[in-house]
Amino acid sequence: MHSFSSRLIVWQHTHGRHDLPWQGADAYHVWLSEIMLQQTQVATVIPYYRRFTALFPTIAALAAATEEQVLAHWSGLGYYARGRNLHRAAQIIMEKYHGEFPREFGQILELPGIGRSTAAAICALAWHERRAILDGNVKRVLARYCGISGSTGEKAVEARLWQQAEALLPQHDIAAYIQAQMDLGATLCTRSRPKCGVCPVSSDCVAFQSGRVSELPTPRQRKAVPKRNATFLLLMHGRDILLEKRPGSGIWGGLWCPPQFDNEEQAKDWFVTNGMDADHGERLEIFTHTFTHFKLHITPLNIQLARKPLRAAQEGIVWLSVEDALQAAIPTPVRALLNKLRRG
Ligand code: SF4
Repeated sequence: MHSFSSRLIVWQHTHGRHDLPWQGADAYHVWLSEIMLQQTQVATVIPYYRRFTALFPTIAALAAATEEQVLAHWSGLGYYARGRNLHRAAQIIMEKYHGEFPREFGQILELPGIGRSTAAAICALAWHERRAILDGNVKRVLARYCGISGSTGEKAVEARLWQQAEALLPQHDIAAYIQAQMDLGATLCTRSRPKCGVCPVSSDCVAFQSGRVSELPTPRQRKAVPKRNATFLLLMHGRDILLEKRPGSGIWGGLWCPPQFDNEEQAKDWFVTNGMDADHGERLEIFTHTFTHFKLHITPLNIQLARKPLRAAQEGIVWLSVEDALQAAIPTPVRALLNKLRRG
């Protein structure tokens, strides 16, 4: 029987994806796509990738942009630390490597936001270096194909998966093989209802042959997702809204948001302390935004001010028209609120 890798490569030629905009691209573009694809579906990534590369066609262009501009074009993709790290890494590449994407695996791994699998994917796809990857899709494929049980998030299980990923590497055609693994995980060996009937490696897939496909990979123990509350103060003056820049780290770091409080009392105290004068106000519908580790129940208080307060002159605070605010670096729930305000 042909090896796992050779069957995958043959399958990829005829059934894999060949029209992704970053395929066959240089290290910069491969890097960008790999970062965008973390936790995000290909269909969502493509329009972002196209816009981003049109605006920042080179590492130099990305490094020269402000963090604000980078985050504005990342807005809606989520996991904003990815955008901040990308920007910082581009600046490091300019300073340390004269704008050339570093060629050594170890140097790539040192850049912010790049882990072992991403560094390996860049080396394999851009330079055809013989390196194994282990992203979420590949973990699922290998856990099933090799019959490895246990949560793929556990260190010991992950170590076994890396071992298998290394052992199965072909001697040649590494870029096609890496792409084949990604394609198999995305199109056949999917999380639910994998298409084992047309899979090129079903004849020796341990999970398929032993009827354990639905059990592998072993699902992670689900913990109850903690819930938190927040109150957004939507301070409006006519069609303008006040936004604050978040500190660089933490959720929505570096993005523009309405002032946020733990509860309505805190919001009201702050309002009074800052000498603001409300014309009228209303509580908008409470909604929930889900993060990886918690759910945030957001109560928006929409307040029309009689006059703009002095506070607007402080650094890190802006008044923007709702339309301009929609173009700024804002997180998804703020975008949803602003769209509501624009319509209403
Ligand atoms: S046979 Fe099924 S479970 Fe096994 S690798 Fe193929 S698609 Fe995945």
